[in-house]
Amino acid sequence: MVIVMGARAEKNDEEWRKQLTPVQYKILRKRGTERPFTGALLHNKEEGTYTCAGCGNVLFLSKNKFDSGTGWPSFTAAVPGSLELLPDHSLGRERVEVRCSKCGGHLGHVFDDGPQPTGKRFCINSAGINFEKNK
Ligand code: FE
Repeated sequence: MVIVMGARAEKNDEEWRKQLTPVQYKILRKRGTERPFTGALLHNKEEGTYTCAGCGNVLFLSKNKFDSGTGWPSFTAAVPGSLELLPDHSLGRERVEVRCSKCGGHLGHVFDDGPQPTGKRFCINSAGINFEKNK
């Protein structure tokens, strides 16, 4: 078995490919980016939680979602401990990549131009997350 993301990885590449849809696989495992304004959850305003599409880890709460105008679901805060932040030097820019702390799946990036009080803008691919409505 090939270990993809280190000790906490539970699945190899082949298993991820089987479990995820092609779009989810491209985002989560290949650090892809969906085209802006195409994500199913972009305009979702229902109350609930946003979970990792790879492993179900609870990442964001609906109360922290906001319309950033960028075309990707955006949040001012994440559930503590749910994310891993890594420097990303690709595309000739300094960015901070956001990954799921549980499965290592790529979710998007976080920027410092979000609204107060956090000033953060978590810019997340809709295809990398699922929504679970509050019961
Ligand atoms: Fe995950």
